[in-house]
Amino acid sequence: MKVAIIGGGAAGLAAAVKAAEKHSVTVFERSGRVGRKIMASGNGRCNLTNAALTADNYADFLKYYNCERAADTVRRFDYNALKSFFESMGLEMFSDEQGRVYPISENSGSVLDVLRVKCQKLNVKTVTDSEVVRVEKGKSSFKVMLHTGEFFFFDKVICAIGSKAQVNNFSKPDHLFGEKFEMTSLCPSLTPIKTKKMWLPLNGLRVKCNVSLFANGKKIKEEFGEVLFRDYGLSGIVIFNISSCIAGEKVKGLKNEYKIVLDLFPQFSLQELIEKLKYRAEICGKQTSTFFVGLFHNKIADAVIKKCGLGEELRNDDFKTISAFLKNITFEVQELCGYDKCQVVSGGIKFDEVDENFESKKLKGMYFVGECLDADGVCGGFNLHFAFASGIIAGSSL
Ligand SMILES: Cc1cc2nc3c(=O)[nH]c(=O)nc-3n(C[C@H](O)[C@H](O)[C@H](O)COP(=O)(O)OP(=O)(O)OC[C@H]3O[C@@H](n4cnc5c(N)ncnc54)[C@H](O)[C@@H]3O)c2cc1C
Repeated sequence: MKVAIIGGGAAGLAAAVKAAEKHSVTVFERSGRVGRKIMASGNGRCNLTNAALTADNYADFLKYYNCERAADTVRRFDYNALKSFFESMGLEMFSDEQGRVYPISENSGSVLDVLRVKCQKLNVKTVTDSEVVRVEKGKSSFKVMLHTGEFFFFDKVICAIGSKAQVNNFSKPDHLFGEKFEMTSLCPSLTPIKTKKMWLPLNGLRVKCNVSLFANGKKIKEEFGEVLFRDYGLSGIVIFNISSCIAGEKVKGLKNEYKIVLDLFPQFSLQELIEKLKYRAEICGKQTSTFFVGLFHNKIADAVIKKCGLGEELRNDDFKTISAFLKNITFEVQELCGYDKCQVVSGGIKFDEVDENFESKKLKGMYFVGECLDADGVCGGFNLHFAFASGIIAGSSL
C-alpha cells in the first residue's frame, strides 16, 4: 500500500516509522527540513514525554487534556510504550524530578535523528520544500497535489500538519481536503500573558512563588513555580500553564475576567509571615531601606516599599500590610500573547471527526494526528507525547 504523510513533525515522523514497517511511505514537508518544532522544543533539549503518564494514573490525564478521547490516546499509548518506542531506536533518556523526560544528550537533535535514521532504514521517502495544497479522494486512491503543480496518487493519507503555533501560513484542513471538518474555535496556549498594568519595574526578574488564577473572582487553578516578570506582563512555565487554562475556557466560549495572584511566601500563613517579619525586625532593625536586604531582590523590595506606602522606619501595623501584599500580588489579565509566541494551539479538529485509530469518519482512508486535533496539554512533555502517540496509533493501524 502507498501511504502519504502530510507534515514531517513529531506526529508525522512517528506515523511514518510505524506505517513503513508494512507499507511504502512518503512524507511531504512544507519547510526545508523535517522536525522544526522537535528541534525547538524544551529550549533545545526536547522534553519528549513525562514519566508521570502511566495507565495507572489515567484520571490525572484529564487535568492535562481537554478531552476524554485525547486522554484515552495517552492511556492506549502511555509513557512506557513511548519510552520503548524510542529505546528501540537507540535513544537514551532520563527523567527529572518532575517526570519530564529528555534525551541524555540534552539535545533535541538526538530525538529527531533517531526518527530520521529509522525512517531512512525503512526506506521512507522524505520530500522537503513541498507544501501539499490539495488532496482529492477518487474512487480507489487519493490525489495529493503540491504547490509546484506536481501530483501523486496514494492509497491512504495521514494528515499531520500541526497548528498555527509559531507558524506563518497554516494549512486549513477544509481547504486541503475540500471537505468541512468540525473544528472548535482556536486559541493560543502555553504563552506569556499580557497584564492590564505592569506597575513594577521588574522586567527580567524571576521569582519562585505560588500562582493562582481567578475567573470572575473564583479560583480555578493554582500552581507553584517560577514566574518571569516582563514589561508587558508575566511569563515562565507556570504562567504558560495558567495560559493553558484560560485558553481552554476561551475555546469553550467562556468570556471571564481573569486575575493572577502571586503568593511569594506560600510556605507561611498570613499570620506566620507577620510573625516572621516582626522577628526579623528584632534582628535586622526597622530601618525600611535595609529591612528587606537578604530576603529578596532589591527590585521587589522597592516595589513593596512603594506599594505598601512604607516610611523610613517600619511601624508595627506595617508588618500586616507587607505580609498581605506579599501573599496577594494581583495582576489583571489583559490578553494571552498571540500565535507567534505560543507553544501550542488550544482547540482543533474535533475528536468526533475521527475513530479510535484517528481515521476520518467522513473521508475513509484519511487520518488526522497530532496537534491539528483538539488536544493540548500543559508544559512537561504532554504535547509531544500526544503527537507521537497519535501518529504511532494511526501508522500502526494501516
Ligand atoms: C518553542 C516550542 C517549544 C516546545 N516545547 C515542547 C516540549 O518541550 N515538550 C512538548 O511536549 N511540547 C513542546 N512543544 C509543543 C510541541 O512541539 C508540539 O505540540 C508538537 O510538535 C506537535 O507535533 P505535530 O507533529 O502535530 O505538529 P508539528 O510539529 O507542528 O509538525 C507539523 C509539520 O507539518 C508541516 N506542514 C504543515 N502544513 C503542511 C502542508 N500543507 N504540506 C506539507 N507540510 C505541512 C509543518 O511545516 C510541520 O513541519 C513546543 C512547541 C514550541 C513551538
